Amino acid sequence: MYLTEMTLSELQALLNTLGEPRYRAGQVFSWLSRGVRPESMTNLSKALREKLAALPYGAVEVFEKRLSQRDGTAKYLFRLEDENLVEGVLMRYHYGNTLCLSTQVGCRMGCAFCASTLEGRVRDLHAGEMLGQIAAIERSGEKPEGGGRTVTNLVLMGSGEPLDNFDNVVRFLHLVSSPEGMGISPRNISVSTCGIVPKIYEFMERAPHVTLSVSLHAHDDETRSRIMPVNRAYPIAELLAAARAYADRTGRRVVFEYALISGMNAAERDAIALAKRLRGIRCHVNLIPLNPVPERNLRGATRGQAQQFAAWLTREHISATVRREMGTDIEGACGQLRRRVSHELRT
Ligand code: SAH
Repeated sequence: MYLTEMTLSELQALLNTLGEPRYRAGQVFSWLSRGVRPESMTNLSKALREKLAALPYGAVEVFEKRLSQRDGTAKYLFRLEDENLVEGVLMRYHYGNTLCLSTQVGCRMGCAFCASTLEGRVRDLHAGEMLGQIAAIERSGEKPEGGGRTVTNLVLMGSGEPLDNFDNVVRFLHLVSSPEGMGISPRNISVSTCGIVPKIYEFMERAPHVTLSVSLHAHDDETRSRIMPVNRAYPIAELLAAARAYADRTGRRVVFEYALISGMNAAERDAIALAKRLRGIRCHVNLIPLNPVPERNLRGATRGQAQQFAAWLTREHISATVRREMGTDIEGACGQLRRRVSHELRT
């Protein structure tokens, strides 16, 4: 087990075996949540620092950072201890900064429009590596005016399918929301899934009650199965039942992500059919003009078409907004930056 993925009580048990008093665990936990290495934990004895430094850590470093000239969005490429790369995007909003972070290296879900899945799943991230992405930004970033944290909100929408790395993601959510650690409230966290239905039910029992985002992208099984293979195992009716159960159980609105693809799901009749299926579910629809991925032959709708689609949904009494497109000049879309950089490193 890595130091950075340990809970407070696991650290207490570890430090107990090293003959340390109980309160030491809180100090170590607080350092770890800021991404500090044992060598630099200045309130510990040198002997203890050396013992901790001998244990596996699970470090995450910023490997590359690109800043959008348009909107201040920053795209990060993080390097893991085994040299794997994952990406994250920090988006600036008026209410704070949202970090979009990765949960796996690559992904095995095979969605037709997504760059993260083109080469399959390489491996799962452990919880310490998810925390490490936040800590790496906090260490490297310019602080907001008046101090405080750079990262105030989280979305698990980088590479990977969070519910395909279930235990590590649940552990991470407990760690990151713990008051002794970063203390990011579950209400400021969204977890996005392509729709692994049984895991949604398990998630609502075992994880802190975060906002659930469901990547829907189509209102009929034929279209959805064509672009999202997961739909062949868990069709839309089952997915919507799970989403409804999540909203009822947690009292939180479910967000449906819907990427508009020209000639596929973006017409007025699609909006009407979508609204009919979502009626009665406490939800919000987030419309995204599809980000073009050069390897994929799918065309996104324009922003104007997306706004029109939102108006159709609103007319049908479904709450909908168009997501701000951020960082398109810095390969903001899923998997794009990692792919380019790993290709450059290989060639
Ligand atoms: N695996 C999870 C989270 C990662 S993907 C999921 O599927 O939800 C994060 C979001 O980006 C999902 O809604 C996904 O469908 C969407 N996405 C992937 N590629 C995209 C693209 N090229 N353009 C727009 N959205 C995309």
